[in-house]
Amino acid sequence: MKIGVLGGGQLARMLAIAGYPLGLEFIALDPEKSCCARQLMPIVQGEYTDFNALDALAKQVDLITYENENIPAASIKHLQQSKTVHPSLAAILASQDRLLEKELFTQLGMKVALFHSVESKQDLIEASKKLGFPFILKTRRFGYDGKGQWKFTKSDDLAAFTVEKNQFGYLAESFVHFDREVSCIGVRSTKSELAFYDLCENKHHKGILIQTQPKRNYPLASTARDYMKKTLEHLDYAGTLVIEFFVVGDELYVNEMAPRVHNSGHWTIEGAVTSQFENHLRAICGFPLGKTNLIAETLMLNVIGAWGDRELLLKTPNLHIHDYQKTPRPGRKIGHLTIMPHETIDEGSLIDLIKSNSY
Ligand code: AMP
Repeated sequence: MKIGVLGGGQLARMLAIAGYPLGLEFIALDPEKSCCARQLMPIVQGEYTDFNALDALAKQVDLITYENENIPAASIKHLQQSKTVHPSLAAILASQDRLLEKELFTQLGMKVALFHSVESKQDLIEASKKLGFPFILKTRRFGYDGKGQWKFTKSDDLAAFTVEKNQFGYLAESFVHFDREVSCIGVRSTKSELAFYDLCENKHHKGILIQTQPKRNYPLASTARDYMKKTLEHLDYAGTLVIEFFVVGDELYVNEMAPRVHNSGHWTIEGAVTSQFENHLRAICGFPLGKTNLIAETLMLNVIGAWGDRELLLKTPNLHIHDYQKTPRPGRKIGHLTIMPHETIDEGSLIDLIKSNSY
């Protein structure tokens, strides 16, 4: 079976690495011919809005999925005329727009931070009254890794901010004083089979994920799974879905979801019996899902900006290197490291080594 992937970044690369042993083949569509999936699959070069490029991909594949949720709805509807696309358009539409996403979570009975839609300065002032300070303003669309976000701590900040008359608008959210950030990785197949991974704790630096650690028997795991199951079923979802949460005391607040494989699930490559990538492929192909059990304590660290001392990394026992073959640039995710099993490693000094080299 040949899978078309919308997007040729590291997620497409890791899907292919997981899918080749299953006998699957891959082709990606990406605006950049030099995208980092190029070593693993042919690339159809084209914009996601280019119907000729979309057709060129569709006619070579059996099934289409994506690694980037910011594909225009019109392009997905066009592809659906000739091919099956997973996950569902409903999931993509909700995850592309922070306001629709928050409304969906609220409708499904999940807790979210108080929010207010902002399209003008007047709306921003109303948001500050409703939410209080501090609050966060986010662009409704195309924000990622903390980009397109502003924190307002006092009323003077309101005057200093220019509300751009862009066509997407903003979402203001009350600032959540969370204890921890966790994510839940769930999978649902076209045959409605469900699977869940252990909840993982995530750490961010300047809005970018830097560290993920799966936790066995997390006290809030069953609530997170309930939320995940509701969302997967409501969206008639096929594939891997990730929902990010804030933990406040013994409560979970939903932050956002990613309708695809996700950075906080990279630990599953070595740490789980079946990775999030393999299970995504099993799910969209209608195959039985693989076991999701954690094999041993695992820690995932992102490599951001620069690799640093590769020799030292290679010498570190239990360390698995994932180099995305991307040109290093400050703030750019260029790889990740998985330490599994990680009890045997001086985690602190390793984190210091990576931090000093790459953040
Ligand atoms: P996001 O792009 O929404 O995932 O935001 C990136 C990061 O910003 C999150 O992982 C949090 O660390 C932080 N953040 C986002 N929204 C809030 C909020 N409402 N309150 C506190 N921190 C937030």
